[in-house]
Amino acid sequence: MTEGKARLQGKVAIVTGAGSSGPGYGTGKAASALFAREGARVLLVDREPERAEETSAIIAEEGGEASVFEADVTSSDDCRAMVEAAVQRYGRLDALMNNVAVIKTGNVVEVDEDDWDTAMDVNLKGMMLASKHAIPAMAESGGGSIVNISSVEAVRSGTFAPLTPYSVSKGGVATLTISMAVQHGRENIRANCIMPGFIYTPMVAPLLSEEMRSLRARCAPLGVEGTAWDVARAALFLASDEARWITGVALPVDAGLLAASPLSMLPYLRE
Ligand code: NAP
Repeated sequence: MTEGKARLQGKVAIVTGAGSSGPGYGTGKAASALFAREGARVLLVDREPERAEETSAIIAEEGGEASVFEADVTSSDDCRAMVEAAVQRYGRLDALMNNVAVIKTGNVVEVDEDDWDTAMDVNLKGMMLASKHAIPAMAESGGGSIVNISSVEAVRSGTFAPLTPYSVSKGGVATLTISMAVQHGRENIRANCIMPGFIYTPMVAPLLSEEMRSLRARCAPLGVEGTAWDVARAALFLASDEARWITGVALPVDAGLLAASPLSMLPYLRE
């Protein structure tokens, strides 16, 4: 990185799920704002365009460059059109942040089959489809970086409810990441995933009591609640050339949650 240069200067990024499900900042919105602050031109993709418009207004106010594209990531046609729009509007494609997910609950005995299919379609197939269309455009631009948002649920099961469809889809995201990193490395395309821990975002806010929110914060070694910005900063690093030699990695951004055994946290949970 050249000293003083913005970290994504000259780059074009697509962020999926760039709106937030409610007031405040979700991961897609925070990452879009950060990417733009660091010089990227950002295509803000969401199935609810008015939410992405909010993100767009924030970026415009901060002097950044972004525009909205309405797409459902479960549609291959929408993903193709999304990539074409980025290239038409901005001339190239350097980064894709696959952020969209929905939460579907239940253990394997009780799970609703439609919920299972939706989790796989939105959380996993959506990332495959977006990448499928983005990779050739990135290769054409000389290479690029894909940042997939997985979850600690990919490797540790169970939070406030059984989340089997969600967890399995997030495990698939980690595997998809490795596969893409290996298959497309020679095109100078990097693929990494982030495993966020218990962050507080508009998507999970309606599901959490104050007590549960406090427990989520206390059960990790740092004992501090995470936000969308914590994940967005890690995504910025992985999207940037600072991470030029990093690919195929699953990075926990979790206050140490995955490092801790449950018993080691017991004194803090009793507080
Ligand atoms: P977010 O970025 O605030 O919101 C995601 C956006 O994607 C919402 O506007 C959502 O709309 C939209 N979306 C949903 N399905 C879509 C589709 N098919 N096509 C296009 N857009 C769609 O959410 P977040 O809570 O911060 O989560 C971001 C990522 O972090 C997710 O992958 C999540 O699994 C992961 N994560 C979150 C946590 C946590 O504790 N929050 C923990 C671990 C991992 P709707 O509101 O209409 O669905």
